[in-house]
Amino acid sequence: MTLHLHDTLARAVREFTPITPGQASVYLCGATVQAPPHIGHLRSAVAFDVLIRWLEASGYRVTFCRNVTDIEDKILRTAQAEGVPPWIVAERNQRAFTWAYDVLGCRPPDVEPRATGHIPEMIVLIRRLIEGGHAYPGGGDVYFDVHSYPEYGALSGQRLDQMRPAEDSLDDDAKRDPRDFTLWKGAKPGEPFWETPWGPGRPGWHLECSAMATKYLGPSFDIHGGGMDLIFPHHENEVAQSCAAGDGFARYWMHNGLLGLAGEKMSKSGGNSLLVTDVLRRVRAPELRYYLVQAHYRSLLEYSEDALEEAASAYQRIERFVVRASEVLMGAADDEAPGLPASFRSAMDEDLGVPAALAAMHASVRDGNQALAAADKAAARASLVQARAMLDVLGLDPLAPPWAGGSGSGDRLRDVVGSLVKLTLQQRDAARARRDYATADAIRDGLDEMGIGVEDTPEGPRWELKR
Ligand SMILES: [Zn+2]
Repeated sequence: MTLHLHDTLARAVREFTPITPGQASVYLCGATVQAPPHIGHLRSAVAFDVLIRWLEASGYRVTFCRNVTDIEDKILRTAQAEGVPPWIVAERNQRAFTWAYDVLGCRPPDVEPRATGHIPEMIVLIRRLIEGGHAYPGGGDVYFDVHSYPEYGALSGQRLDQMRPAEDSLDDDAKRDPRDFTLWKGAKPGEPFWETPWGPGRPGWHLECSAMATKYLGPSFDIHGGGMDLIFPHHENEVAQSCAAGDGFARYWMHNGLLGLAGEKMSKSGGNSLLVTDVLRRVRAPELRYYLVQAHYRSLLEYSEDALEEAASAYQRIERFVVRASEVLMGAADDEAPGLPASFRSAMDEDLGVPAALAAMHASVRDGNQALAAADKAAARASLVQARAMLDVLGLDPLAPPWAGGSGSGDRLRDVVGSLVKLTLQQRDAARARRDYATADAIRDGLDEMGIGVEDTPEGPRWELKR
């Protein structure tokens, strides 16, 4: 079986046939950096990280582009409220997103272009659309003429006469049709602007992705991804802009399901947010990743604390096996490594069927635990190698970066530091016992210089890291 992916435009699961054999180009709509990320944002990042890992595991050389929308209304409003330039708000939140992607083990994109860095490319695209009769300036804005592109509505499965008006312009009177959407927004007083042949202004949201996807991946590329909430109007408008201009654009459209919070869709317009930093106070990063990965990427994942805790326990069971087996088998004969099980491969090839793939992985863990109990080292080793190979595809191998260098080793480091301090304090006690107060004081001063405060209590010395 070869890789099959659900294509939103075809409304079907299609065999994946890349433009260039052995290569795959992927564009993902990234963050609008108006606020720090909640775990809904991370669901999309993690879902497409699994896609990229699976493409690579299947032998493709992947080029991955994920944009940053660093100019839009809410960024401008926040900047105004704080009395700072918009780029300060955008930079701050982009750092928060990058941190969250890293901490959840998402591989960085090959390129992460920002909208404000690609105004010349957008101006070229607008010019092509105007020259082709697909766009027109009016009232300081530039609009896309939806009647000029007969396939408008095909991606979201809507007919033009049933579509709601585009609510994205300053001056609706300048539009020929209320459904025409804004490519370029005329400058409002006090807002940042760029000069164009059609007057000063700033880009509409949709335009940036068309301009940046084709700049980095070419006029035609393989896969375009994003959350289901982006199908309309954002992706519909991207297709219209690029295809009307004559580009082939994306050949497969993949959309991840949203994260639901008590029935409320967690989209960027909703107020229900579970900040990544807050959730990571309750569970560790790989546990949160397991929670986000386990459901099929197209399903609606309804958030609950219970489900998050269950996911954490499930991950801990895997982790216990991997860590224990690795310790027990250290130095055991390195037999031929078994490949990924066929059941795992076929599950992943069927539109990234992670639930079935995880079932194959759990079976390996179960077999491995039984083999350990029976002291069958060869079987335990085979299970361990196979489980870790599967976990690697899902970004969940407890012994791989970032987990091995992250929270897990942080715990270990704390334990080691604790033991070292204890050892040092025992030496101080020994010095005191032989009335060598100079050495005892020197030990205490040395700890103090390292930022370790020691307090003598009736139960013995207590220490803490000083702030
Ligand atoms: Zn986009």
